[in-house]
Amino acid sequence: MKPEQTTAAFSNDETRWNAVSGRDSSADGAFFYAVRTTGVFCRPSCASRPPRRENVEFFDTPQQAESAGYRACKRCQPGSLSRELAIVERACKVLDADPQQRLTLAQLSNAVHVSPFHLQRLFSRVVGVSPRQYQAARRADALRGALQRGDDVTRATHDAGFGSTSRMYDAAPAELGMTPSIYRRKGAGLIVHYATAQTALGIVLVAATAKGICKIAFGDDPAALEADLAQELSEAERIEDKGRLAPFIAQIDAYLRGKREHFDLPLDISATAFQQRVWDALRRIPYGQTRSYTDIAETLGSPRAVRAVANACASNPVALAIPCHRVVHKDGALAGYRWGTARKVALLSAEKEHREEAPHEAVDAGVLS
Ligand SMILES: [Zn+2]
Repeated sequence: MKPEQTTAAFSNDETRWNAVSGRDSSADGAFFYAVRTTGVFCRPSCASRPPRRENVEFFDTPQQAESAGYRACKRCQPGSLSRELAIVERACKVLDADPQQRLTLAQLSNAVHVSPFHLQRLFSRVVGVSPRQYQAARRADALRGALQRGDDVTRATHDAGFGSTSRMYDAAPAELGMTPSIYRRKGAGLIVHYATAQTALGIVLVAATAKGICKIAFGDDPAALEADLAQELSEAERIEDKGRLAPFIAQIDAYLRGKREHFDLPLDISATAFQQRVWDALRRIPYGQTRSYTDIAETLGSPRAVRAVANACASNPVALAIPCHRVVHKDGALAGYRWGTARKVALLSAEKEHREEAPHEAVDAGVLS
């Protein structure tokens, strides 16, 4: 990306330092800062202890910081954040913040400090749909959630940002995917233990029955995730139990820090026969790699079932354990992710990064021993 395509927001040391002091995540990807005393470089939003101004040096790209002799911070993993992916990640966060809002391209481009033309092209290339289509899909998600909670259809339609009920039904086949009647299952007679925890990918909620994990979900707010669980399994007995779920959360945390590539988690999830076949196929995609919906459909011997495969991916109840984030469009565009496209971007780039650095670590260890 050429420099003139970003706006002037973080073009000088003063604005950059302000962004670092404020841990401004809207500056992520726009530049990187390195700390002379530690030899490490970071994203502006890194949560590590704030450096002293006189020890800080700024770089436009991770490559420049590396060639100046700095190592990528383990905590914020700035090397995995290519400038372009960072822009898309920021744009998704802005769009995800409020599904009811209808941002114009100009407003969005202002918010992420990139020209509208460049943003439109970049977003479409990476995500597979335009920012406008993405917002429409988010509104559909919000509506789906409201219907699942049993909200009144007219009210839910309005709250999700559709102007009228008829507009919602017009949009339904393309955006909603399923009819409201799908959402009527509750979990009566089950005891479900659950816990939430902070991770590199936001808040995770893990829930388990006596037989295994039934839900792994990501979000920004523990209370909202718990409310989702309560609505989905309203007939089940739900008990918060951090100790019981600690070993599972530890696995997820290790995975997100690149310390683990596979899960050893018993699952207890209900699926149709077709979903089961798709989810099995997803679990065979190696860490750090991706497949297209078409690839998966072909693997299953149903090359025309691309849409059904996409639906099965979108209905995955256990993030990461069934790695639906490794499925992308045929042309390489990311497509959607149940827990937010920004998280999919972060997961795929982190997996790629850890994959690439693994052999170097082995060599380093050899030299040291
Ligand atoms: Zn950092």
